[in-house]
Amino acid sequence: MSSLWEQRAARNESLFREVNENIARLEDRHGATVAGPVFLCECANADCTEHLVVGADVYERVREHPRQFLILPGHEDPRVEKVVETHRDYLIVVKTGAAGDIAEQTQGL
Ligand SMILES: [Zn+2]
Repeated sequence: MSSLWEQRAARNESLFREVNENIARLEDRHGATVAGPVFLCECANADCTEHLVVGADVYERVREHPRQFLILPGHEDPRVEKVVETHRDYLIVVKTGAAGDIAEQTQGL
């Protein structure tokens, strides 16, 4: 059984993912800006409202896998995720364990 905390963390991240998917869609419609679209950090901290700037291509690559999320460097939580790519402005993490299962189940809801 996963802890309540773990489930909540995963739900929060899925919520941010939904917001970011809307941003990605809007970008699509209006054309990409020079600076690149601004996304919300998808870390497990529900209070985190920080932004990260990545290219739409990076975002789409992350979204290809339901367990992958984009977060700011230093926001990773080894209890629920594993860093798979480290960049100057962002990290790509993969949800592990129950958090990953929830992320997968809530994909596209
Ligand atoms: Zn964050």
